[in-house]
Amino acid sequence: IKIKITNIDIPVAFASAFEGEIIRRGDMQVEFDGSRVDCAELVHTVEASEIEDHKITVVGPEVDEMELGSKNSIAYVVKVAGKSMQPDFEPVIERKFHNYINCIEGVYHTGQRDMQRIRISKNAFAAGFRLKHIGEVLYASVKNEFEAVVDKCEVVIYTDPAECTRIRHEVAIPTFNKRDDRLKNLTDESVDVYYSCILCQAFSPSHVCVVTPERLGLCGAVSWLDAKATNELDPNGPCQVITKERPIDERIGEYEDVNEAVKRLSQGALEDVSLYSIMEKPMTSCGCFECICGIEPFSNGVCIANREYAGMTPLGMTFPELASMTGGGVQTPGFMGHGKHFIGSKKFMKAEGGIERIVWMPKELKEFVADRLNQTAKELYGIDNFTDMIGDETVATDPETLVEFLTEKGHPALGMDPMM
Ligand code: SF4
Ligand code: ZN
Repeated sequence: IKIKITNIDIPVAFASAFEGEIIRRGDMQVEFDGSRVDCAELVHTVEASEIEDHKITVVGPEVDEMELGSKNSIAYVVKVAGKSMQPDFEPVIERKFHNYINCIEGVYHTGQRDMQRIRISKNAFAAGFRLKHIGEVLYASVKNEFEAVVDKCEVVIYTDPAECTRIRHEVAIPTFNKRDDRLKNLTDESVDVYYSCILCQAFSPSHVCVVTPERLGLCGAVSWLDAKATNELDPNGPCQVITKERPIDERIGEYEDVNEAVKRLSQGALEDVSLYSIMEKPMTSCGCFECICGIEPFSNGVCIANREYAGMTPLGMTFPELASMTGGGVQTPGFMGHGKHFIGSKKFMKAEGGIERIVWMPKELKEFVADRLNQTAKELYGIDNFTDMIGDETVATDPETLVEFLTEKGHPALGMDPMM
């Protein structure tokens, strides 16, 4: 018999009302920051005999033993066991940690994997909140939400810096790499089905993401493997199987089956979408795209801006301005929202010539995607160090200067057909 845990034993409140809560530096007791010190959050599948249900262990100092206002390491490993548990479910469960921890009154969480950041407020600390309570929250939430696959759950929270370094480098990063490699070897052609995701219909009612191995959800958080796992965990949930047996136009990636699914899931708001075109029947965007790509007519190319970028783009618009005309679940040819990892994909704007069209992105984003983008450019067009040809804010934020730079670099987009 499985029992729903309705009352989590912690000294502060736990409710979705606290999800948007911000904790300022002056109000914080301690923080944990994966961008500065070794941190990790991980779900790890083990044999039932290896764990004790509801055991919560803290290895290293508790919050009381940390200096007020200090930055510390943290690594929590949620060990799960169950007859129906699969390692593919691990990232889907991990992604929920953000919501769970944010629901704690006086605790703030951002990021994921080994880049999470957590703050505990002075008020929560004064109320008696300690790290073991994060364990209680993770335990209860995972058992509640994933009862179909998790029979037993044990949480180990490391704060000892040497242990955090060990967990991060010897356990967490190899696990993340293995997951990413699995996806890297999959192509849209090598699978039989795609998946829909309608998680964002809560605030963008007609929006449907079609998630394929080479095109992840535009939020950047739902890969094809994640969508597949989400569907297996909850067959009536946000991710549904979409067959791809009746292609209409391979060039733009249009399928009768995909159109039917999108029409049904958007309650008739959308008739047809392509997977690989920004100009013809592009996919819609909700509001949580990691990046926006838009056409830049002077260079026959496209500029990409990521959410973190606060400056101007050569399109004469900032990210928020681009977002206001791209979101809302409607098709806007010439503009599309997408995940960061889509930028290095062979399917990125394939119909318009692919990544060769990219003429500008913020420097930070360019560095983030460089390895994969350069590799794809080499494989598709034989170009070495393609990112060196792409402009950024240190080179130009207006089209004239950008075109001068592209001409100097011999960027291939300049010789391509206009996109409109
Ligand atoms: Fe799902 Fe992400 Fe698309 Fe939202 S943006 S519908 S969460 S894949
Ligand atoms: Zn969204």
